[in-house]
Amino acid sequence: MPVYYAFFKRGVDILKMEQENSNSSKVISDYKCVVCGEAEMEYVLHVPNVNFSKKITQFDIIRCKHCGLASMYPFPKKEDIEEIYNTENVFSKDISDTTNKKKWGASFFEPAYARYGTYYHYIAKKCVNLSGKRPEDLRILDVGCSTGRLLKEFNRIVPKADIQGIEIDPDAKNKAFNEVKDRITIGNFLEQEYKDKFDIITFCFVVEHLPNVDDYIKKAEKLLNEDGILFYSSPDIGSRKALQLKSKWRLINDPINKHGHVIWFNKKSACYLANKNNLEVVHYKNRGEFIYQLPIFLQKAMKFLFGSVQSPNGEVRVIKNYQLRMMYALLFDALLPEIFSWGDSFYLFAKKKPQ
Ligand SMILES: [Zn+2]
Repeated sequence: MPVYYAFFKRGVDILKMEQENSNSSKVISDYKCVVCGEAEMEYVLHVPNVNFSKKITQFDIIRCKHCGLASMYPFPKKEDIEEIYNTENVFSKDISDTTNKKKWGASFFEPAYARYGTYYHYIAKKCVNLSGKRPEDLRILDVGCSTGRLLKEFNRIVPKADIQGIEIDPDAKNKAFNEVKDRITIGNFLEQEYKDKFDIITFCFVVEHLPNVDDYIKKAEKLLNEDGILFYSSPDIGSRKALQLKSKWRLINDPINKHGHVIWFNKKSACYLANKNNLEVVHYKNRGEFIYQLPIFLQKAMKFLFGSVQSPNGEVRVIKNYQLRMMYALLFDALLPEIFSWGDSFYLFAKKKPQ
């Protein structure tokens, strides 16, 4: 244990050192944080060769010293946001992976991974449990629902609930899963009127795309019943993987899916956003790859010993052997993080406080 701890600690120290070195003394004076409104910012890193926008070719990432929110700088204008998201229909892109379907054991591993390796089951189950309501009484809204994968999971575990989704990308409904197609409304959540309140409102990897994220959370809180659950997940710029990969982290500059983000949260800013909007964080966990928890030399040793493959989203995954990789990924990248909270994305569940 002490030996392992020493290795582990060394990995952390290296990451800390690297990040400190990347902080320069640039002064940022013309920007206010979109979550807390404070103006004191620190420089985090530079992102060259941007691949998700035709107009923006490079940017800096700065961080609010007050709430911890990181932002693209210069902050994108309205027309830049249009170009980044709406022109390419990024929220309805199909990124399913069919390369492993013929491998031995795929008929077991692929459905197991679809259920437990991805995050939809975890989110839906946790939201329903935390709500404490009977399934048939639940009203659920997924904001930014894309083609309805989370809606489909809710529909599977609580089929009697009233389940709805809203998505800004007009292509999403055409490409949506059949069983949830008619539950999806195409439109802007901020402009949409709802007559009745909800017990669960979810934003699954949506908040990092919203320049006016506070307006969305504010509206969602108002639409929740008392004790209602608000969920959001997002890339964690304070995670080990983010600190290690810096501008090469896929969730800053994605080479394959070209999903651009405009703000990045860490634990501090994620909880700040909830607390500011009358929500109490009741469950907070990171999920994702285990390997980045290790010091860099052990990461390299694992890749050397077990080999690696490139997944369709452009990431290098450790362990060349398919069956071994799937077992490892299910255990170390999906199930254990739910206990130990490692990985480069966070999952925040909050409860509406009594007025
Ligand atoms: Zn702030």
